[in-house]
Amino acid sequence: MAKRDYYEVLGVSKQATAEEIKKAYRKLALKYHPDKNPDNKEAEDKFKEAAQAYEILSNADKRRHYDQFGHAGPQAGGFGGFGGGGMDMNDIFEQFGDIFGGAFGGGGFGGGGRSRRGGGQRGTNIRIKLKLTLEEMSEGANKRIKVNKYKVCSICSGSGAKAGTSPTTCPTCKGSGQVTQVTNTFLGQMRTASICPTCQGQGTIISDKCSSCRGEGIERGEEVLEVNIPAGVEEGMQLSLSGKGNAGMRQGPAGDLLIVIEEAEHPNFRRDGQHLFFDLFLNFADLALGTSVEVPTLGGKAKIKIDAGTQSGKTLRLRAKGMPSVNHGGRGDLFVTLISYTPQSLSSEEKELLEQLRNSSNFAPNPNKKEKGFFDRMKEFFS
Ligand SMILES: [Zn+2]
Ligand SMILES: [Zn+2]
Repeated sequence: MAKRDYYEVLGVSKQATAEEIKKAYRKLALKYHPDKNPDNKEAEDKFKEAAQAYEILSNADKRRHYDQFGHAGPQAGGFGGFGGGGMDMNDIFEQFGDIFGGAFGGGGFGGGGRSRRGGGQRGTNIRIKLKLTLEEMSEGANKRIKVNKYKVCSICSGSGAKAGTSPTTCPTCKGSGQVTQVTNTFLGQMRTASICPTCQGQGTIISDKCSSCRGEGIERGEEVLEVNIPAGVEEGMQLSLSGKGNAGMRQGPAGDLLIVIEEAEHPNFRRDGQHLFFDLFLNFADLALGTSVEVPTLGGKAKIKIDAGTQSGKTLRLRAKGMPSVNHGGRGDLFVTLISYTPQSLSSEEKELLEQLRNSSNFAPNPNKKEKGFFDRMKEFFS
């Protein structure tokens, strides 16, 4: 099934505020809630689809990522992007905590209730900056990056228990990690689950803590990662590697590693989206007489012909010599602006020659002919 646009799913505009998104989701979740639509596959699909959309759009980072990359994010490049599998019901009900203030907390669905995923707290995300040259952004790159982060404790393997001992089942929740209570809501009576106060949801308690990590199950360390950067990334884009962030306490799932792309200044080119711009300084005689010159491009040099009588400031467009797009094929263009170079020190001989030319009638600008400036030319290119 093709994925629908998340904004469309929730029926909100791309500019919707967090509050509008929450409101729209709340409405859909109530409408398609499985308790109100028993044995209705279509409602369940809609329920899941809305939850998935909300999961992304309610998170500023994920939303920005989605706005930039859409569903077809740069997953091919080795990035987590958004897992295609979507969310399971447990994820969805977990999400309800901040939407309904716990009214839907847990249970009640599908007869079996939900079992809390065991394990500790999820690790935090790590955000790092990665500076790339235009060449790397153009071709895509394979980078090795060293990340300082929390890793699983090497002494206790993350359990938090001292060597030779192991965590024991929590007496309060009998290992489930949660305690349940029954509450009355507008949808009828519901079982609400909350995290066990004794073990904080772990299901187990540790009597003898690992002395290395003091029972937390994590330690500082570093990891070297190979990262595939897809061609066409731009300054400010964020790529996420799921599960490569900080390890979670006591075997909780790891957070994500978020890589924010920075663009290194290029000696030749300025970039605007997929287009590149380059100023080529030329000897006035070359512009007047015409010539053929080489210009740098990201993929090597290109030869261009300068017609006799070319005005300084003229811009040439070299198609498909710009940057690729991360989302679709095709490259932008390279715009080469020809600029007449004015010599800054002259011999007496050169001065004499120029003096002779200065008074030549052909050297005076023609007042009857309006020459086009930079903005006129750009308007022509992009209209
Ligand atoms: Zn340990
Ligand atoms: Zn417990």
